[in-house]
Amino acid sequence: MERNIYIVRCGEVALKGMNKPYFERMLVERIRKVLKKHQGIEIRREDGLIVVRTVKDIPGDTVIGEISKVFGVDSISPAIEVESDMEAIEEAAIVFMQKQIEEKGIRTFKVEAKRADKSFPVQSPDIARRVGAKVLIACKVLKVDVHQPECRLHVHVRRERSFLFEQKVSALGGLPLGTNGKGLVLLSGGIDSPVAAFLMAKRGMYIEAVHFHSYPYTSERAWDKVKDLARVLTQYCGNIKIHSINLLPIQEQIVQHCPEEEMTILVRRFMMKIAERVAAETGSLMLITGENLGQVASQTAEALVVTDAATSLPVMRPLIGMDKVEIMDLARKIGTYDIAILPYEDCCTVFLPKHPKTKPKLSAILESESRLDADGLIEKALENKETVMIRPV
Ligand code: ATP
Ligand code: MG
Repeated sequence: MERNIYIVRCGEVALKGMNKPYFERMLVERIRKVLKKHQGIEIRREDGLIVVRTVKDIPGDTVIGEISKVFGVDSISPAIEVESDMEAIEEAAIVFMQKQIEEKGIRTFKVEAKRADKSFPVQSPDIARRVGAKVLIACKVLKVDVHQPECRLHVHVRRERSFLFEQKVSALGGLPLGTNGKGLVLLSGGIDSPVAAFLMAKRGMYIEAVHFHSYPYTSERAWDKVKDLARVLTQYCGNIKIHSINLLPIQEQIVQHCPEEEMTILVRRFMMKIAERVAAETGSLMLITGENLGQVASQTAEALVVTDAATSLPVMRPLIGMDKVEIMDLARKIGTYDIAILPYEDCCTVFLPKHPKTKPKLSAILESESRLDADGLIEKALENKETVMIRPV
């Protein structure tokens, strides 16, 4: 049966020492998962490459699009497979280049050869030269350009079968999902936290999420928006469980007993404490937020110190040093931006103080907290937690 072939190159996985087989196995596992919905997929590790073979009728763009969202993949090339024999390679190269001329109007090219099988009788520079010469004879419109060719024809000679390919589609890099434990992201409906989750998942971390709302002040639509954001993330992060927690009773207590300007920082500390409890229940090793130095009042250096002190878990803030425009660009690339900018209310906007404290002092905040039954409030909030599992569509 005729098949389409894709060569998948690993990024950093290839640099791993002793653990390389483990990382490769995890990567193959992820590719298998994202392609699971198609029939007749074959994925194998061959000569240090991952080779995916599909039945002909699955469009190349679909397969490449799906594989390029797998963390740990550096690039993908649709390829042609031929017998490892000079004549067969030359013939295939001619057909390949004729197609390039017809479909893309290519006029200049260069052949680059690599010999994975050192017992192959022709050396790499000679393979390139001989294939190039045959192509020139067969395709009169072509010229060789070794510096800036319109088409680089790669010939990758291996023991039994060799590959020819041209295009290299860049993927995301990173490390395969599941190679770095699990993190719990505090997922709002905003631009930042989905990007933060994406960046941690890119380093191999499974993602689980906690979302805080102030129902009925926040609407069902705001909650749908959070689920939609998570659904976009599942393309990269796999299934995401979201724990949804109502903060309203806590916010009401703060309003009654604490200074108005401390509202935001007090709420943030409660979020951290509740998230820490959820993390313990779910086996999450660390918390992840979309906080960013200086972006808003609750993210000044002083505020971050006071927020941090609420939990003993490490809090990962992968966006800490990024500018808003950089974060927005990344959100667009991931596909979360258009959803994130929908103008639904967030729990933090419900009791937004007019003048939030930008330089809170931990001692003063602890004093305010002591007026509340923090443990009881946290316990209650957790009792009413709802959990949904978001899966890729
Ligand atoms: P985002 O764009 O992610 O909403 P932001 O710039 O609006 O971030 P804040 O509202 O101060 O900033 O929130 C900072 C971080 O706190 C968020 O990135 C997120 O990790 C967490 N957070 C804020 N609100 C919520 C919420 N309702 N549920 C869960 N986490 C939240
Ligand atoms: Mg927000």
